[in-house]
Amino acid sequence: MTQEAPSIPDSEIAAPVDDSPVFTCKMCGQCCRGEGGIVVSPKDLARITRALALSAEEFIARYGEMRGGKLQIRTGEDGACIFFAEGKGCMVHEGKPDVCRAWPFFRGNIVDADSFEMAREYCPGIEKGCSHADFAREGRAYLTKHGLLAHNRDEEGRAVILDD
Ligand code: SF4
Ligand code: SF4
Repeated sequence: MTQEAPSIPDSEIAAPVDDSPVFTCKMCGQCCRGEGGIVVSPKDLARITRALALSAEEFIARYGEMRGGKLQIRTGEDGACIFFAEGKGCMVHEGKPDVCRAWPFFRGNIVDADSFEMAREYCPGIEKGCSHADFAREGRAYLTKHGLLAHNRDEEGRAVILDD
C-alpha cells in the first residue's frame, strides 16, 4: 500500500494551538477518542512521517488503517487515537494531521452558533466566556495564519474546509 507524500513547507508543520485567546487545550483527550475520525491526507502523511522519522510505508503499517478508501490513524484498545497518552496529550504534536490542528475551529463551529455551543460543552479548552462572534473571528484568523483553509474535499478533511 503506498500513498504519495508531497514535501510541505516548514510553516505548515504543527503550530501551537495555544496561541488563541479563545482556546487553550487542556489535554483531556476528548477529541482524540472514537474510531474513524482522523483522516491522514497526503500532506498530513508527509508531515507525520517527517516528525516520526518513518517512511510512508512504515507509518501506514504501524499506525494506519484504511476506512472508506481513506488512510486514517488507528485507535488503541481504549478507543483513543494511538498517539494519545493520558496526562501527556498528543505524542505526535508536531506532526499531527490538519484535522487535529484545526480543532476546535471546525467549519461548523465557526458558521453555526448552535454547533459552537455544543463544541464548548464538549471541549473544556474553549474559553467559557467567549462569544460565538469572537470565536468565529479568532478561528478564521487562526486557520488563515496556520494554512488550514482546505480546498480539496478529496484530499483534505471536510472539517477544515471553510472557503466554500
Ligand atoms: S477536547 Fe479540547 S481540551 Fe480536550 S484534548 Fe481536545 S482540544 Fe484539548
Ligand atoms: S494525532 Fe494527536 S491530536 Fe490527533 S487525534 Fe491523535 S492524539 Fe489526538
